[in-house]
Amino acid sequence: MTASEALETEAKKAALLNAVKHEGKAEAGAVIGRLLGAHPELRQKSSGVRVLVSKVIDEVNAMSLACQEKVIQESWPEELAKEKPKAERGLPPLPNVDRYPKIVTRFSPNPDSVLHLGNARAVILSHDYARKYGGTFILRFEDTDPRLKKAALQYYDLIRADLKWLECSWDEEYYQSDRLELYYHCAEELIRKECAYICECESEDFKQLAESGRACPCRAITADENLARWKEMLGGEYEEGEAVLRVKTELDHPNPAVRDWPALRVIDAKKYPHPRVGSKYRVWPLYNMACGVDDHLMRISHIIRGKEHLTNMERQKYLYKYLGWQYPDAIHYGRLHVVGMDLSKSKMMRALDEGVYKDLSDPRLGTLMALRRRGITPQAIRGVVYEVGPRPVDATISWENLYAANRKIIDPIARRFFFIDKPVVASVSGVENSRMVEIPVHPDHPEMGTREITVDAKDGICRLLISREDLKIAKPGAVVRLIELFNLRVVQAGPDSVSAELHSETYAESKKVSAPLIHWLPEQRNCGVTVVMPTAERIDGLGEPALTNCHVDEVVQLVRFGFARVDATAQNLVAVYFAHQ
Ligand SMILES: [Zn+2]
Repeated sequence: MTASEALETEAKKAALLNAVKHEGKAEAGAVIGRLLGAHPELRQKSSGVRVLVSKVIDEVNAMSLACQEKVIQESWPEELAKEKPKAERGLPPLPNVDRYPKIVTRFSPNPDSVLHLGNARAVILSHDYARKYGGTFILRFEDTDPRLKKAALQYYDLIRADLKWLECSWDEEYYQSDRLELYYHCAEELIRKECAYICECESEDFKQLAESGRACPCRAITADENLARWKEMLGGEYEEGEAVLRVKTELDHPNPAVRDWPALRVIDAKKYPHPRVGSKYRVWPLYNMACGVDDHLMRISHIIRGKEHLTNMERQKYLYKYLGWQYPDAIHYGRLHVVGMDLSKSKMMRALDEGVYKDLSDPRLGTLMALRRRGITPQAIRGVVYEVGPRPVDATISWENLYAANRKIIDPIARRFFFIDKPVVASVSGVENSRMVEIPVHPDHPEMGTREITVDAKDGICRLLISREDLKIAKPGAVVRLIELFNLRVVQAGPDSVSAELHSETYAESKKVSAPLIHWLPEQRNCGVTVVMPTAERIDGLGEPALTNCHVDEVVQLVRFGFARVDATAQNLVAVYFAHQ
């Protein structure tokens, strides 16, 4: 086998393994990352690798999942033993699975914003349960409030991107704004059965009556009269606020907010056009009507959502009773409180409008976009979600929990680079020759290769950069080891410079005198590095030239500073987002 054939085989293996992990679709970035990780020398020829990987991925993704698994089974059986589906570990069984011909779950966001860490729980649990039982996972856009919770076109796409990033692919997709006729149909049936009526009362008047358990005058009118009012409602004869279709409940229901709840109302379609269907409809369903009808029509078997929906379930159960439907099994999990992260969507969107944030990937936010930009991995988020699971008790997690989960994933694979934010020049005497230093890309993984830094010496003097922070260590008389370079003894240390002499060369010698290890850079040929911190503060500094070879999205470790995701690269410039230490 030639070297290029061997590489192609290796690319195919990586693509197949990645594909079976992602429901049959390999992802180019991951495959390229794996190849370059195993063959650092190929980083210089990464465009060739890209072409090869793209060809291999086309082949692999054209195969069915079963076929991909068969190839792995035949060629690399040892890999299948390694790749146990970890997603399924730890999820308690769903109740009443036998009652349904198929397990169907859904995630149903309002596309008026992007998803945040709290939403990830509903997405991941609903998706992973569907997969666990070989069922169907539905993405349903609940976009039926063009007035107060108005959808915007970009959020449909951004939510899809969030789901893909979480590795939660969906089998069916719906827009509620395409389904108004279905809600109208059910509304009419409810009216005919005298289970719903058109209420013309002022909302304040109705509220007062409901609170005291009394019926409003509209409740007693006949089904025929209600049907006539319904036609008028659809025909545009009521203005916004003049009529609402209410579903009958017990008037003495213990929760006044459940009593004769509103199901559809009139919205001024000219003033509040819908981003998808414009001004086509004036009568729009409220949340419980649309959600309740769709959960039935889409044959949802298990609803997995937060316990703030318990009252909504009580409302929707009236619909199910009147229309002769069976309510799905509903699992209501407790609140997830993340210390130091404000997950309020309304506050966030207001601050966005006010320009506090430039966009929803601002590192101060708890959106999935922001976490992604900072190099938090979807595996870490899944780990945290599995930790809290679908349990009904409230749970509290901290950023540190998320960071710890993420560190476990990225620490073994992140390439290491030197970065210094506040450089101080260190002149070291006694260095006879310029040299090229080869430093392992990862201290625990020699197979990841080395990076090179050229260090110049002139007239026995070598000028380097160290971090101002390290002046605390590099005090006169101290012996300090510059990682992978040599050991120096500090002669003088001023606020902006250090002079030192060569002490010895090897790590063993530094250990003898317990010299602390610090990182460093040559004085010349570094690249500019901007680090965007979680506070949105920007730190400008210098990094070793090899940083510019990183690809966007790669998570690296800036030695003794922390992990960061590469956000952009240009000639001699790299911008990264800080993840955590
Ligand atoms: Zn009324």
